[in-house]
Amino acid sequence: MSTYPQTSNYIAGKPGVGTGAEQSVIDPFTGEVIWTYRADDASTVGAAVQAAAAAYPEWSGATPADRSGALTALAVELSSVAEELAQTETAQTGKPIRLSREFDVPGSIDNVSFFAGAARHLDGHASGEYSGDHTSTIRRESLGVVGSIAPWNYPLQMAAWKVLPAIAAGNTIVLKPAENTPLTTLLLAEACSRAGIPAGVVNIVNGPGPDTGQTLVTDPALSMMSFTGSTAVGRHIAGLAAANGTRLHLELGGKAPFVVFDDADLEAAVRGAVAGSLINSGQDCTAATRAYVHRSLFDDFVDGVTDLMRRVRLGAPADPETDQGPLVSFRQRDRVASMVERALRDGAKAVSGGQAPGDDLADGAYYEPTLLVDADQRSEIVQQEAFGPVLVALPFDRDDEGIELANDVPFGLAASAWTRDVFRAQAAARRIEAGTVWINDHIPIISEMPHGGMKASGYGKDMSSYSFDEYTQIKHVMSDITAEAAKPWHTTVFAHAEQR
Ligand code: NDP
Repeated sequence: MSTYPQTSNYIAGKPGVGTGAEQSVIDPFTGEVIWTYRADDASTVGAAVQAAAAAYPEWSGATPADRSGALTALAVELSSVAEELAQTETAQTGKPIRLSREFDVPGSIDNVSFFAGAARHLDGHASGEYSGDHTSTIRRESLGVVGSIAPWNYPLQMAAWKVLPAIAAGNTIVLKPAENTPLTTLLLAEACSRAGIPAGVVNIVNGPGPDTGQTLVTDPALSMMSFTGSTAVGRHIAGLAAANGTRLHLELGGKAPFVVFDDADLEAAVRGAVAGSLINSGQDCTAATRAYVHRSLFDDFVDGVTDLMRRVRLGAPADPETDQGPLVSFRQRDRVASMVERALRDGAKAVSGGQAPGDDLADGAYYEPTLLVDADQRSEIVQQEAFGPVLVALPFDRDDEGIELANDVPFGLAASAWTRDVFRAQAAARRIEAGTVWINDHIPIISEMPHGGMKASGYGKDMSSYSFDEYTQIKHVMSDITAEAAKPWHTTVFAHAEQR
C-alpha cells in the first residue's frame, strides 16, 4: 500500500483528492481492497480541463526539441521506477509479474522513447508553387486539449499510448483510466512532473465511466477525444462527442482470427495459439480467439493446444513461476464464465477448461485456459468479444473458406495466418480485414508500427507516426507571389464590374 500514490487525481502538476463517491481498487488474486479513493465529479473534471487549457499555449509553443527532451527525461524517470510500476500493475490487474516486468513496463518506456523522437519529425507535403501564383506550405499543428479514456487490461500501456502521441505533438491532455485500475496511471503522471513536463500538460481524473468519463467526453473545451474500450461504449462516446463536434480517435474491441493453412508448421501454430489466446488471461483486444484450422490438421491442432493449455500454470500473480493470473475482476470472470456457459448450452464442447478452477485458487478471479470446439460460426462465442482465456477452434476445407470465415465477424482489429507458402501468406495479408495481420506469429507489437482496427474495431491508430499524425492537424498556408492587386481569378466574381 505504501508505494501507491496518496492521491486520487493529478491536476496542474499536483496530486488531489476527489469529492465524489468512494471507489475501491481490488486485488483480483485475493479479493481484498488494496486502495480506495473518492471519484472526481464534474467540478474536478472541469478543473482538470482548465488546467490543460492553461498549460496549452506554452507547451504547444515549445520547440519540438524541448518536448523531445522532456520525454527523454520521462523515459529515464520511468526506468528508475520500473519495478514499482511492474508490481503495482500486477497488484491492481492480477497479471503475472513476468508479463508486467517483461512486456507492460518496458513496452511503455520504449513508447516514451519513440515519441521523444517523433516529436521532432513533422511530416507534410513539400512546399511549392502548385498554382503558379502562390507558394503553398503545410504546417502541422497541435489540436488543443485532448480528453482520453483508457481501459483496464493494460493500464500503464494504454495510458502511454494515449498520453505520449498527444503531448509529443504539443497538445495537453486529461486522461481517465478505468475506475478499477488507476494506480500506474497516477505513477505515470507523477513521473511526468519529475521529468520536468510542465504542470497541466498531463492531468489524470478518476472515477466511473458513466459519471467521470462521460463528464469529460462532453466538455466543450476538448479539441479531441481518444478512447480505447468496448465497441458499445466507443459508439456511445462517439454520439456524445459528435454533439460538440469533437474530433474522435476510437480503438475498440477485437475478435482476432488465427488461420492455419494445411502447410503450416503445426508446432509453431499450436504454441502461437496458446500464447496468443492466453496472454494477459486473454484480456487483450488482439488475442487469438477464433482458430480456423485446415481439416487435415484440425485434430492434431486441438490435441496440441489442449495438451499445452493444461500445462499452463495458474498461480499467484507475484510469483515469477506463474503463467496465468486471475482475470482483472470477479465481474469480468463472471462475464467470461457466463458466455462460455451459453456457448456450451448452444452445442459447443470444452476440450480444455470451460470453468473456474477450484481448490486454492477459488478466492481469486481465475478462469481455466479454455479450448472450445463444435461452436457454430454464427454463435455469440464466435462473433462477440469474450475477453478471457478462451479459444474456439473450427475446421475449414478450402483456403477461400478459411479467409471468409476469418472475415465473418463485426470486428477487424488483428489476425494471423499460418503457412509456409509465401503466396498464401500474401493473399491472407491482403484479404483479411484487420488493422494488423501477422504471418506465422500472433501478438507482437512494436512502437514504430500502428495498432488499430477496421470495421467495428474503430479507426484510431495507437503507436507509430500514424498516431502522432492523428493528434495533429494540418494547415495549408497559401501565399501570393505575384504582388499584383488584380488577380486573374477575380474575373470569376466581378468580370465586368470595373467596366460599369
Ligand atoms: P468499457 O468499454 O465499459 O470500459 C472502457 C473505458 O470506458 C473505461 O475507462 C470505462 O470506465 C469507460 N466508460 C464506460 N462507460 C462509459 C461512459 N458511458 N462514458 C464514458 N466512459 C465510459 O469496458 P468494460 O470495462 O465494461 O469491459 C467490457 C467489455 O469491453 C470487455 O469484456 C471487453 O470485451 C471489452 N473491452 C475491450 C477493450 C479493448 O481494448 N478493446 C478494453 C476493455 C474492455 P470505468 O471502467 O471506470 O467505468
